[in-house]
Amino acid sequence: MADTTTLTTPAVLILLGPPGAGKGTQARMLEEDFGLVQLSTGDLLRAAVAAGTDAGLRAKAVMEAGQLVSDDIVLAILQDRMAQPDVARGIILDGFPRTDGQAAALDGLLARAGQKVTAAISLEVDDEAMVGRVSGRYTCAACGEGYHDEFKQPAQAGTCDKCGGTAFKRRADDNAETVRERLKAYHAQTAPLIAYYEARGVLERIDAMGAIADIRRTLAAIVERVSA
Ligand SMILES: [Zn+2]
Repeated sequence: MADTTTLTTPAVLILLGPPGAGKGTQARMLEEDFGLVQLSTGDLLRAAVAAGTDAGLRAKAVMEAGQLVSDDIVLAILQDRMAQPDVARGIILDGFPRTDGQAAALDGLLARAGQKVTAAISLEVDDEAMVGRVSGRYTCAACGEGYHDEFKQPAQAGTCDKCGGTAFKRRADDNAETVRERLKAYHAQTAPLIAYYEARGVLERIDAMGAIADIRRTLAAIVERVSA
């Protein structure tokens, strides 16, 4: 997709999805396709602290005291960031809001600017398929080439296709039980947020188990529709 699609209104998208659902990849594609800017809470905080804005200094003081940055400060930083010219086409929020309380506070902020959340897009996964996908991963200990028990075995069993190495390793946090726990925590944390946006008619659910290119097309169609 060479041309950047123009949006008629600045879009405020919220991307929801568990670890492994391809959220980062899809956010980058939305940036490419629509000229949107992905704003993650961590990056926002770091940039505001580095820039020494009022809110950035408040955040710095809180973090240095070893405390969590309050919603108020995050919102103030977000508001500053949304006033900058590079986000004129719209933003994709990643990592905020995390609770329905934060979602309501975000709505308040947007309402004061005459804006609203364009869409909350939930990348939906099949938990057990995800467990299989993530927990089957392993890599060559020598060159780092990635393999998978089910989807990508070396051509010759036990020998790396790329470097001929015969030692492989698995990440401890990729085991099935860990992945299952992570998904469970995600669903528990995100359910109120999904309900919040569903009640406001802006929730879009996407099947995130398919091919990356298909998900990209579906996502692009949604963004075009909700921005029209
Ligand atoms: Zn190798």
